[in-house]
Amino acid sequence: MNDEYDVIVVGGGPAGATAAGLVAEKGHRTLLLEREKMPRFHVGESLMPECYWPLERLGLTERMKSSKFTKKKSVQFVTANGKESAPFYFHEHDPRESSTTWQVERADFDKMLFDRAGELGADCFDAARVLDVLFDENQAAHGVRVRTADGQTKEVSARVVMDGSGQQSLIANKLGLREDIPNLKKAAIWSYYKNAQRDEGDNGGATIIMHTTAKDSWFWFIPLSDGVTSIGCVGDSDYMLKTGLDPEARYEQELDRCPGLKKRLENAERVDKIHVAKEYSYWTHQHAGDGWVLIGDAFGFIDPLYSSGVYFALVMGERAADAVSDGLSRQDTSAAQLGSWCEGFKEGSTLIRKLVEAFYTKEFSFGGFIKDNPQFEGNLTDLLIGRIFYDGAGEIFEKMEPAVEHARATSNV
Ligand SMILES: Cc1cc2nc3c(=O)[nH]c(=O)nc-3n(C[C@H](O)[C@H](O)[C@H](O)COP(=O)(O)OP(=O)(O)OC[C@H]3O[C@@H](n4cnc5c(N)ncnc54)[C@H](O)[C@@H]3O)c2cc1C
Repeated sequence: MNDEYDVIVVGGGPAGATAAGLVAEKGHRTLLLEREKMPRFHVGESLMPECYWPLERLGLTERMKSSKFTKKKSVQFVTANGKESAPFYFHEHDPRESSTTWQVERADFDKMLFDRAGELGADCFDAARVLDVLFDENQAAHGVRVRTADGQTKEVSARVVMDGSGQQSLIANKLGLREDIPNLKKAAIWSYYKNAQRDEGDNGGATIIMHTTAKDSWFWFIPLSDGVTSIGCVGDSDYMLKTGLDPEARYEQELDRCPGLKKRLENAERVDKIHVAKEYSYWTHQHAGDGWVLIGDAFGFIDPLYSSGVYFALVMGERAADAVSDGLSRQDTSAAQLGSWCEGFKEGSTLIRKLVEAFYTKEFSFGGFIKDNPQFEGNLTDLLIGRIFYDGAGEIFEKMEPAVEHARATSNV
């Protein structure tokens, strides 16, 4: 590890590895620091189809196609009484290769991205924990203090620090930039099963979203490779974790309340411990400063519902890399330059946030809405694919927002 770089990227997840690879590819001296030994476990296995484009830019689509990762061609929803919607097949909406995406073991997927950053020219270190981001008297970032794998602590300087430290959100915590997202104080409990029943054919790799009977929680069903399925339950944090039961008992209790899932688990066997994550939804009110920029979960995370987290991390990694490379070549590492992509990103990501809010409005039904407004089916599929960065991507909300509001208001009468 050198003492000085153009760019230091904190965190070797999808956001950090993408950013480091693409900045290094442009010829800038780049250091990527990951605190865990890679490969490391991570939740978040289901990708959105639009991940295809950043993966293509990274030169990884061929590796993805020849990997063992399950191919995901659709999503499906199951109502509180166990009624399954017709699957949303992505290729029916857009018959291109990009409409097939993947369900990934994150340890393998993230390791592939981390290694790719190295192939593109970044100096990559795992088991290297950033202890602090260093700021000068003008509040400009100029480097980090890191503890390396051999236990040594050293300071490394850089013209730009990109924070991809995930939920640890190093800079946002240090500068007090994090804010909760109202109404999204959720928790997730999940585990892994063998022999959970999957559909035959093209829907076999689908992410299935299943409501529990009173719509107080929902389950994800994500088919991974080697016959393993990731199955997790999400609900309000207090509802999930403050009942006096331990997480395992709560998980079993919610399973019992999910008719759509119970039948798929009749011959299944749990093959891992119970995992818990809570209160992971937040946003930041400043995303860049002089010499620093936030990417991926360090910038903000909405909700697991539509599997947008990894996609957002890849997109932010890519967009921030372009802004940083451009800034470095013009000697401009100001907040305005490094964060020049943030407003456009927020416009798109807000659409996913609105879709999440609609889903969590118990009285609102997507099925009913599309039945009454079939002209928006394409628009809705665009959102589920992750195609959110074009003019008109949010048209559906002109009708959906009042419908959600109405559903909420009538239930309060
Ligand atoms: C319950 C749940 C389910 C989810 N399901 C999905 C899903 O199905 N699909 C999906 O797309 N997304 C999902 N997500 C979201 C997804 O996991 C994240 O959005 C995604 O991992 C963000 O990538 P990232 O690179 O920003 O952060 P991360 O993947 O978290 O990577 C950050 C990295 O930074 C490292 N790091 C942290 N601190 C330091 C430090 N001080 N020094 C050095 N390194 C550091 C960490 O070890 C980590 O490897 C889910 C999230 C939750 C909570």
